[in-house]
Amino acid sequence: MTVLSDGNAPRRMDQILSKPDIALAEYEADHEALPINLSINAYLVNTGSHLVLIDTGAGELLGARSGLLITNLRASGYQPEQIDTILLTHIHADHSGGLSVARLRQFPNAMVHVDVRDLEYFVTGKDNPAQSESLRKTIQQSRATVGPYLEAKRILLIKQDSEILPGITAHSQPGHTPGHTAYLVEDQGHQIFFWGDIIHSAEVQFAHFEVTVQYDVDPHQAVETRLRQFEFAAQSGLLVASDHISFPGLGHIRKAGSEYRWAPIPYSATVAELCPK
Ligand SMILES: [Zn+2]
Repeated sequence: MTVLSDGNAPRRMDQILSKPDIALAEYEADHEALPINLSINAYLVNTGSHLVLIDTGAGELLGARSGLLITNLRASGYQPEQIDTILLTHIHADHSGGLSVARLRQFPNAMVHVDVRDLEYFVTGKDNPAQSESLRKTIQQSRATVGPYLEAKRILLIKQDSEILPGITAHSQPGHTPGHTAYLVEDQGHQIFFWGDIIHSAEVQFAHFEVTVQYDVDPHQAVETRLRQFEFAAQSGLLVASDHISFPGLGHIRKAGSEYRWAPIPYSATVAELCPK
């Protein structure tokens, strides 16, 4: 597995989290200035017979500080044409935006797996005058980036709780988006859980899991899902890959009283063996 940085998104977290006072206090206590440079991570899994990319970064949608995934993919010795499988945790600019640039498919030989609820919500659904301006913008971006794969018949709908490839299963995690999906990858006793946007701010939401982010489609459900996944990760001890925890976003979770803590595993610039969990 290779972690690919797509770059960063500068964010005033106090303006996008649901509890600005808590956000300001936590970042100040951490001596971190706002805006923070939120990581955008994506993950490449080489199964030996498949090259699987989990999320695609932002492409051209979020400016020059992101959209670096393909540069970093090439730097790690792979070409975008070699990717045969893309697993989207969800449709949003910073996860599916890298699929296409100027409506050109960046991964011409890949099949893209996505949950039908996200596809309908962000791409194929009917336009509705009640939609907010920001949702309309996301829909427009999603049609431009996911759309070319639909036209090329390269979209596959995820069957939740079943195997997508040998050792890779999809698990529905609704809330942040309706079809938000995590992927569990298992091999010879090793497990890693790619959970997308279960959390956006390690500094705030491990201690305050009830804090939501303005991009949550269903904030109430997002909190329920986050708590369930924190508990699952803390109890099982499995390795978690998190798209917006500082690069490379790999670590374990432990419970401390009513809060949770992130225990990052050390960054490794070379091939490293993972502990057999
Ligand atoms: Zn995201």
